[in-house]
Amino acid sequence: HADAALYYAKDAGRNNYQFYTTALSTKTPELLTLEKSLRFALEREEFMVYYQPRVNIITGQISGMEALLRWQHPEMGLVAPSVFIPLAEESGLIVPIGEWVLRTACKQNKAWQDAGFTPLTVAVNLSLKQFRQPNLVEILNNILKETGLEPKFLELEITESIAIEDLEFTRNVLDALQEMGVYLSIDDFGTGHSSLSRLQLLPLHHLKIDKSFIQELTRDDKVAHIIKAIVVLGQNLGLRLTAEGVEKAEELEFLKSINCEDVQGYLFYRPVAADKATEILIKEKNKHTDAQ
Ligand code: C2E
Ligand code: MG
Ligand code: MG
Ligand code: MG
Repeated sequence: HADAALYYAKDAGRNNYQFYTTALSTKTPELLTLEKSLRFALEREEFMVYYQPRVNIITGQISGMEALLRWQHPEMGLVAPSVFIPLAEESGLIVPIGEWVLRTACKQNKAWQDAGFTPLTVAVNLSLKQFRQPNLVEILNNILKETGLEPKFLELEITESIAIEDLEFTRNVLDALQEMGVYLSIDDFGTGHSSLSRLQLLPLHHLKIDKSFIQELTRDDKVAHIIKAIVVLGQNLGLRLTAEGVEKAEELEFLKSINCEDVQGYLFYRPVAADKATEILIKEKNKHTDAQ
């Protein structure tokens, strides 16, 4: 069924990609319908924020949560971000939608802290248009003030491609964000054809190795060397390293052997709704009380 690629499937990554490469040249009627309903999705409260824990390999503890946007379309079901984020970016709707994600994630993180869980950072993805907003710092300051979350518990992820598009501009924005005290990371590292030597001028805390590398790891020996080189170089630059898309025990073993600090992937947790994420945090807390 051709439309199946529109909907969120458990492992739809590759399908969605194929869907999108065709969709960019000619928009299917389904895509045009989605584009229209996207305009009302925010006010109709069709968005949800899911959370995926990031795990410290050494301690086995949750070291952060990434906020991942979901769209529950009334007729089409759950639509994947790889389908609707590009539409939202194109129309500019990503700006109000992204602001809603930021507010929701900060509020949730503060609620977890108030409930007595070990304080964690919540990571929010920023799109190009959001990153380019002249009043980004002001918006973020307002959200932090409104929700009562300390800036150090908010992490902002920008992709490597966004970061390198205009390095001078990126540096100015990141300097301002760094001054605010938020945590800064580069997402999907390795896909933007840049190099760490170009990124080293940026005030970064965290580098996330793109999942395509981890997926190739067991298929191609050379990839192991590349991942290792990224981890070593990144750590020498003082960055915290996370490997994305870890699904297999052997991938985890390899990442352990090269001292990669954190992993994020289905092997540990899938992205889940806030109530499920709370259950995960309760289990995590009990695990550590039991161990004492
Ligand atoms: P990302 O920021 O790189 O997020 C990681 C993606 O990898 C998520 O896909 C997550 O569900 C998926 N993932 C995590 N572990 C595994 C694994 O073990 N195997 C596989 N195959 N996938 C794994 P998701 O949620 O579909 O999001 C896709 C992309 O959409 C994100 O990639 C991010 O670029 C974008 N996105 C999601 N939420 C937002 C948002 O609120 N704002 C913006 N601007 N972009 C967002
Ligand atoms: Mg991300
Ligand atoms: Mg990524
Ligand atoms: Mg991505």
